[in-house]
Amino acid sequence: MLTVEGLRSRYGRIEVLHGVDLFVGSGEIVTVVGANGAGKTTLLRCLSGVQPVSGGAITFRGEAMTSVPAYRRVARGLAQSPEGRQIFTNLSVEENLRLGAFIFSDERVERDMADAFAMFPILREKRNQFAGGLSGGQQQMLAIARALMGRPACLLLDEPSMGLAPILVAQIFEVVKALKTLDVTVLLVEQNAFGALSVADRGYVMETGRVTMGGSADELIADPRVREAYLGM
Ligand code: ATP
Repeated sequence: MLTVEGLRSRYGRIEVLHGVDLFVGSGEIVTVVGANGAGKTTLLRCLSGVQPVSGGAITFRGEAMTSVPAYRRVARGLAQSPEGRQIFTNLSVEENLRLGAFIFSDERVERDMADAFAMFPILREKRNQFAGGLSGGQQQMLAIARALMGRPACLLLDEPSMGLAPILVAQIFEVVKALKTLDVTVLLVEQNAFGALSVADRGYVMETGRVTMGGSADELIADPRVREAYLGM
């Protein structure tokens, strides 16, 4: 579904992605784990089209994406739920969800909204409240639900567990797992390697702008280098 080949990106004169290769198959949950500063967020920003690419290629559903602008990528089914959530705090929960569906004007929007509320009952309860009043975990759920309103074929998730209390972290990873039942392919970027690998089919390890390892989630969890560097074992 999504292929990344030799992807390079820079901030000014400093290159931070030095040729990243990875792929995500249809229906898979794939995670990219790595330390702070490894380039995970930059990678996702390149994929969603908000960060310029200086080399390499991105192919999505057989189509070259590298020079397609961000809003067109969303329309083609590639959506990002950004790091730090970036919900509209002074709009209601429902208004935030409607914004996620802004490219559609059909009756399916109401059905999608009902589906979102079925998946996240707390959002239904709070649909008329300002999103800024939600807890961190609820805001993260809203960010994911809003991205789903765009009917993505592939969802790019940037650190959904960041800054959440442990019990909410577990809940968020359950939500990621549940996306599989909705037929949404997921590329999940996480510093919480254990949580991410626990729900993923496959994973990659990123270090200073390069993919240094890849394999099934089980292989990575069992790998002594991953255990020592990322799982604290
Ligand atoms: P984190 O988990 O902290 O988001 P990350 O793995 O996602 O880390 P990136 O945020 O992609 O890593 O950062 C990769 C490198 O690019 C780092 O060295 C970082 O300092 C640098 N970087 C990130 N954003 C910018 C920016 N706007 N301008 C200059 N350098 C940046």
